[in-house]
Amino acid sequence: MTPTLAKIIWAAFGIAWFLLRWQPRRQARKTPVRQSARGPREVALLVVSLSGLGIIPAFYVAAHLPRFADYPFVPALSYLGIAVDCVCFWLMYRTHRDLGRNWSVSLDVRESHTLVTSGVYASVRHPMYSAFWLMAVAQALLLPNWIAGPAGLVGFGILFFGRVGREEAMMAEAFGEEYRAYMRRTARVVPWLY
Ligand code: SAH
Repeated sequence: MTPTLAKIIWAAFGIAWFLLRWQPRRQARKTPVRQSARGPREVALLVVSLSGLGIIPAFYVAAHLPRFADYPFVPALSYLGIAVDCVCFWLMYRTHRDLGRNWSVSLDVRESHTLVTSGVYASVRHPMYSAFWLMAVAQALLLPNWIAGPAGLVGFGILFFGRVGREEAMMAEAFGEEYRAYMRRTARVVPWLY
């Protein structure tokens, strides 16, 4: 394992994620929205997250910037990063399969929205966000740079904590007691813990 290979692997997982989302993205455009909590705040959160998980590490991978923040490459960490990315990819795939037409890049309730509580949604109510946390951890393990590595944790962390409460409030408003009961029996992102 070399730093260059670790960078290529980071980029390959990014491309695989982009392709995995192709079909859900197309389907989402065709599925009418009934209620939405989109707005400037949501756009800002998405930009911050995209910067941390995409733009900042892409600069590092493509142009090796910022160099001053480099630290020595540890192959064992990059192997761990690959393992975490594999789990992330599997979970991302499963969440898209389980959510189906209910998926949205932002906060929307669709015309024919159904509350999904089975599959990977049986024990945690935000498994797609669990997958993004894993993606951010893998990035930190794969890229030996104090800015590009942890940028995903910071960027996605801001989106997660800025959004999750509002998402749950929106879902509780749309699904009432059914969602509140679902909240009582599930964790947010880590089974049994949080
Ligand atoms: N927070 C979830 C979903 C992310 S996609 C996760 O991490 O897996 C965001 C969209 O999913 C929101 O617009 C919301 O309407 C929808 N959503 C969230 N939880 C859902 C559920 N349990 N069933 C159906 N739709 C859900």
